[in-house]
Amino acid sequence: MDNKVFIVRCSDYKEVGGKMSELLAMMGGMGSFAKAGEKIVLKVNLLQPAKPERALSTHPVVVSAVARLLINEGAIPIIADSPGSGYPYTEKTLDKLYRTCEMYRVAEEEEGIEINLDTRYDIVSHPEGKLVKRFEVITPVLEADGVFNLCKLKTHVFMHMTGAVKNVFGVIPGLTKPGYHAKLRDKNRFAAMLLDLAEYVSPRISIMDAVMGLEGEGPGAKGEPKHVGLLIAAKSPLALDVVASEIIGLKREHNPILIEAENRGLYPNRLEDVEVIGADISISELRITGYKLPATVAESSGLGRFNWLSPLFKRGMALKPRVIKESCSACGTCSDSCPMEAIAINDNNYAQIDDDTCIRCYCCHEMCPESAIELHRGLLYRLMNR
Ligand code: SF4
Ligand code: SF4
Repeated sequence: MDNKVFIVRCSDYKEVGGKMSELLAMMGGMGSFAKAGEKIVLKVNLLQPAKPERALSTHPVVVSAVARLLINEGAIPIIADSPGSGYPYTEKTLDKLYRTCEMYRVAEEEEGIEINLDTRYDIVSHPEGKLVKRFEVITPVLEADGVFNLCKLKTHVFMHMTGAVKNVFGVIPGLTKPGYHAKLRDKNRFAAMLLDLAEYVSPRISIMDAVMGLEGEGPGAKGEPKHVGLLIAAKSPLALDVVASEIIGLKREHNPILIEAENRGLYPNRLEDVEVIGADISISELRITGYKLPATVAESSGLGRFNWLSPLFKRGMALKPRVIKESCSACGTCSDSCPMEAIAINDNNYAQIDDDTCIRCYCCHEMCPESAIELHRGLLYRLMNR
């Protein structure tokens, strides 16, 4: 697999147009990735309807810059994504998503960009998959000549980081996503599914919007925007994730995707396997000191000591989601996103979680638009770490 990762500094979204051209020029030009007449899906990360300044989604100027280069090449860019768990994959949902994340603005500014409102999907088989051999995939991805993976650098309470590999999960239609969480409760198995899916989607290029990243309790509204000042691209989504993980200070052993890649002999999966090209300094100097990682990373470091113990014990140590009832608007998004149907709106008009049913996938925390779900440590963890 290709091990080159290309980086340009881009301190502000105002610079993206020129910097994107520079980035693609380093990679041989847009002509190396798309030809005239080809339909190219720009698989953006649109987790939920949120304004670009919240850094939850791929910034519109990044999408616009890539689309413009494709149009110059004579190709046809199509913006497409299925939002996170909890949002049905309907035209109404997509319309709100594109409006709030300012994708319509991108299409208005540049003639020739299409926006996907087709909500069909199909079941595809992927016999090469090591864990999952069958996926539901949205139609624009299936009908396109190629896919460009326009991901965002964010922390993720369940997978610890979302970058290029995790972004492909958005080709699975809306409310089908919780089913994957229900079946693949362990993050290592979830990572295995993502690698199978990334192999199926096979993006021609992955480009990461790391001008503003998201730190802390991402990837949803609980995360906090963080200036990083980079655009990063690679042919291999795995290579890109190796570098992104290093930049935010997420140790390799805490990145389930890199560990699973190593288990199945996929390269590159560690920094020394990657060739970094561009930026004027070494990768170690690109590391953002003090980038806030989710509390679940510390929890998994602590749990490493107890891997030989029972799942029940590990469950007692894991962070638990808890609703802040004063902040809850009773919108029901968490309930729709929950793979276990563990959440209901109670008579007092706030969401209530059935702890016994909860599998700690944190989809509710990720999707709550009001930041009304927090993660807190169980009694057992607190006792063990006194
Ligand atoms: S906890 Fe959040 S997602 Fe759930 S009902 Fe309340 S506001 Fe909506
Ligand atoms: S209540 Fe538990 S199982 Fe349901 S979405 Fe939240 S973390 Fe996942």
